[in-house]
Amino acid sequence: VSNNPAQPEFHQAVREVLSSLAPVVNARPELISQGVMDCLVEPERTISFRVPWEDEQGKIHVNRGYRIQFNSAIGPYKGGLRFHPSVNESIIKFLGFEQTFKNSLTGLPIGGGKGGANFDPKGKSDLEIMRFCQSFMNELFKYIGPDTDVPAGDIGVGAREIGYLFGQYKKLRNEFTGVLTGKGLTYGGSLARKEATGYGLCYFADNMLREAGRSFDGSTVVISGSGNVAIYACKKARQMGAKVVAMSDSNGYIYDPEGIDLDLVKQLKEVEHARIREYVQRRPSARYQEGCSNIWQIPCHIALPCATQNELNGEAAKALVANGCFAVAEGANMPCTPEAVEVIQGSGLLFAPAKAANAGGVAVSALEMSQNSMRFSWTFEEVDQRLKTIMDDLYRNASNAAAQYGMAGDLVAGANIAGFLKVADSMLAYGIV
Ligand code: NDP
Repeated sequence: VSNNPAQPEFHQAVREVLSSLAPVVNARPELISQGVMDCLVEPERTISFRVPWEDEQGKIHVNRGYRIQFNSAIGPYKGGLRFHPSVNESIIKFLGFEQTFKNSLTGLPIGGGKGGANFDPKGKSDLEIMRFCQSFMNELFKYIGPDTDVPAGDIGVGAREIGYLFGQYKKLRNEFTGVLTGKGLTYGGSLARKEATGYGLCYFADNMLREAGRSFDGSTVVISGSGNVAIYACKKARQMGAKVVAMSDSNGYIYDPEGIDLDLVKQLKEVEHARIREYVQRRPSARYQEGCSNIWQIPCHIALPCATQNELNGEAAKALVANGCFAVAEGANMPCTPEAVEVIQGSGLLFAPAKAANAGGVAVSALEMSQNSMRFSWTFEEVDQRLKTIMDDLYRNASNAAAQYGMAGDLVAGANIAGFLKVADSMLAYGIV
């Protein structure tokens, strides 16, 4: 903590991972004596840079960009870019740290990294977004490459931003390579990438539910957020027989007891870039509530927090328990506070941690890298089937690791241990580097 003051999110993530690694580290003292644990919490490289850009009125703005290349023990750094005013070094570090274990869990050869900028894309014109992305890449291109570091999207970075970033990289390097994932389908993107995190979340949760004799079928589901993860989690949960009754954005939430009209949400969010409150204008069965936190007061069987970090606190978790919820699966990164996780696990609810449950996005990103390397494209069904197999295996690995270390059923511990072991053994093999 004294090495990294004012990094609460990073401390929270490290504390959560290290506390579940205690049984592994106790059994293998060389992990401490060989410095693996100390190296694990120190990024290999932290890049912070100036991003100047000009708005449509000719005014110059300066934002701060980041790329944190956390761990490349098992492959090139891989992880998204986040454009949001809340971005700072602590948030990017926590995300990069988590990404290292998540990527390891997918079973694919990808290391961990994360980046972004404290830039707010809301209210900006296409031209301003393009200028910002180009300026961001003018610095970032020096540090990334298809075998070094392959960024992707995250909050505020979707297909449009990836297009501008990739175009600028291609121009600066004079190379057409798979240096970014989440690309458009006409220039190297993978089918099913858009759906991957939300679908993967449901595939993972389905494994967890079935093992406990439960199912999405006939269940009521509440999903926070209405972005990429939330929309495709909603789609797959419905395909699996669930009724999704609530979704949100950063202003408030909609409750539709008849079941969310997903086509309408997609129209509002993907096409019109409108606020979720507008849903109720076109859907009389629904009501809108300003503010997001009360979404967890809505009775449901399964909660899928898919918006942002620390959005579900201890009080919200107690409300879920009191209302008969039996499972929480994290679509966003670290959406449940430590108090919430304690309440959820302490009350015997099933709990799928983000690191495992939302790994589908990065898994398909790695499949996009494979397709780019082969200069070949798989069909939607082929990618989706591979995604499902990856999420099924991931569930089994996390579940088995928990059982092996005497914590059967604890997928938080299982995911941390399974993700950690592969990275740690690779680091040991390299010696001190
Ligand atoms: P999007 O930007 O597409 O959507 C984010 C959603 O969350 C929006 O509805 C947004 O509302 C809402 N939101 C953002 N900040 C807040 C806040 N402070 N309070 C309440 N709601 C908020 O992002 P994604 O769907 O891609 O990502 C969501 C989460 O999933 C993030 O934690 C991300 O790191 C994680 N994730 C995403 C992956 C992916 O493949 N996309 C992969 C793995 C993890 P508004 O529109 O008002 O901003």
